Amino acid sequence: MGTKETEGSNIPFARPFIGKEEEEAVLRVLRSGWLTTGKEALAFEKEFEDFLSESSPGTLRCLAVNSATSGLHLALEACGVGPGDTVLVPSLTFTSTAEVARYLGAEVVFVDLAPGSFLMDPAALEKTLDRLSRGLPAYGGLKPDGRGDFGPTGKPRAVIPVHYGGLPCDMKAIMEIARRYDVKVIEDAAHAFPSRLKDGSFAGTLADAGVFSFYATKTITTGEGGMVATRDRAIADRVAVMRSHGIDRAVWNRYTDRKASWYYEVVEPGFKYNLPDLLAALGRVQLKRAWRLLEERRQIAARYNDAFAGDNRFILPPTGDENAWHLYPLRLNLANFDLSRDTMIERLQDRGIGVSVHFIPLHIMPYYRKRHNLLPEDFPESLRRFKGIISLPIWPGMEQDQIEKVIAGVKQEYRT
Ligand SMILES: *Cc1c(COP(=O)(O)O)cnc(C)c1O
Repeated sequence: MGTKETEGSNIPFARPFIGKEEEEAVLRVLRSGWLTTGKEALAFEKEFEDFLSESSPGTLRCLAVNSATSGLHLALEACGVGPGDTVLVPSLTFTSTAEVARYLGAEVVFVDLAPGSFLMDPAALEKTLDRLSRGLPAYGGLKPDGRGDFGPTGKPRAVIPVHYGGLPCDMKAIMEIARRYDVKVIEDAAHAFPSRLKDGSFAGTLADAGVFSFYATKTITTGEGGMVATRDRAIADRVAVMRSHGIDRAVWNRYTDRKASWYYEVVEPGFKYNLPDLLAALGRVQLKRAWRLLEERRQIAARYNDAFAGDNRFILPPTGDENAWHLYPLRLNLANFDLSRDTMIERLQDRGIGVSVHFIPLHIMPYYRKRHNLLPEDFPESLRRFKGIISLPIWPGMEQDQIEKVIAGVKQEYRT
């Protein structure tokens, strides 16, 4: 995903923080004789539950999976999403957020970002839900006109807000709207571990389900992996069954009590989405480091903010609730300089500074553009964000002189 691994004095865009404890944890599993899902995965789930329940103990259940993409797929499946349904997602996100709806035969409907924001616009969400629930095609009145009403129709079944970069969406507004239209809400919390609202509650625990990612570049990592968090028993039970081939463990457990450990029942054609112990062991160590890793990212973000504040060539990332700082998306005031964003990226990479862009909006990707006859200008906020952003390196272990080199590089290249 645009990560440029570099050597020597080069600064990679992202780098996992892996210490001795991670090495030892993986060795322990390697030597244990049990590599796939077992005790470690179970312990990881329990510890993740405890972490997220700190401020609201009780009913949260966490289910480990082999990626956030798998987790989003399972969560939508558990919500009953299928053919004839629509799933609403922001257009500025990674392709995972949308593709899972297509796995299930549902159509993807895009919602623009709030003005000046990286987060889904509740007002735009409401407008789109209103159209869909009246049987109208998703899009109408978009600029430029001439297409009339167009885009997918279908019962709106779920909305997937994305906590972009680690900053939580306005979940209160989104939940209120979704409940009114009887639509399920799945938080894409791939960037948001750990992100908290002002009341202390964690992003990813505020909707019907939340899904975290442990992909190699994310805030904590197992290489590949993910976690589904939910307070809804029916969703939790369904995800538990569907992530392991549709094998009903409750039945299996009943029979193991009677020592028939070979017995199981297949109740659905499920998926193979379990997280192996080898990776769960890594996750357990990373989880223990989560607050310290966040503090490091926070300090880097603060230094960047400090360096770019008050300079009218730059727009700082929005503030609000407690950000997990998976990304530091610096916005460029394109009117105030003569270098294109793309040239800027090339120059920074020439200097050995790994940068990236999050994201190329999905509505301009060939698949969705062609499928629903979309134009780039249809989602102007997403398009504007995309054209003017650069994601700067922000990873625990970054040295002070590396941070300063990034700042100097950006300021130097970005001349008017
Ligand atoms: C990384 C990412 C995902 C997918 O995570 P995986 O664990 O790689 O499947 C989903 N949504 C967003 C916004 C992401 O950035």
